[in-house]
Amino acid sequence: MGICHSYTPDGRCISLLKLLLTNMCIWDCSYCINRKSSEVKRARFTPEEVVRLTINFYKRNYIEGLFLSSGIIQNADYTMEQLIRVAKLLREEELFGGYIHLKAVPGASKDLLLEAGKYADRLSANIEMPVQEDLDKLAPEKTLVEIENTMADVKFGIDDAKDRG
Ligand code: SF4
Repeated sequence: MGICHSYTPDGRCISLLKLLLTNMCIWDCSYCINRKSSEVKRARFTPEEVVRLTINFYKRNYIEGLFLSSGIIQNADYTMEQLIRVAKLLREEELFGGYIHLKAVPGASKDLLLEAGKYADRLSANIEMPVQEDLDKLAPEKTLVEIENTMADVKFGIDDAKDRG
């Protein structure tokens, strides 16, 4: 948890509350402190808690938006649904007009990534490793095909949003 900086499409530098919904993870990427085999202490926010924190910081002018990611909770889709729930509550219940950056969970369904794009200003996916052999060694639950599909779905969502104006 912390404050990070990001640039909007019009070049403004903004402060974002950077949070993990949870540092629990069922996957075991060897480069990650939050991997399942790590002995780090675990914690998990509910979507409602993240919404409250974001709104409280936003109203005090500490932040201009939220950057939310998460460890993998049950599976990729469930995790993505939880991230979307935060963004949806912020937009629809709190009428939040700040910036929302969501991390696209690798392997999440295209429909969920499209839904995330309805609420988020930015969706991003990590490239991780460029070849499957390295993923097998370092991030055994991730596949290059799924990561590439996630990136393609994010791009599709962006193009779709542009077409809709
Ligand atoms: S999936 Fe993400 S949070 Fe989980 S171990 Fe890999 S890098 Fe860490």
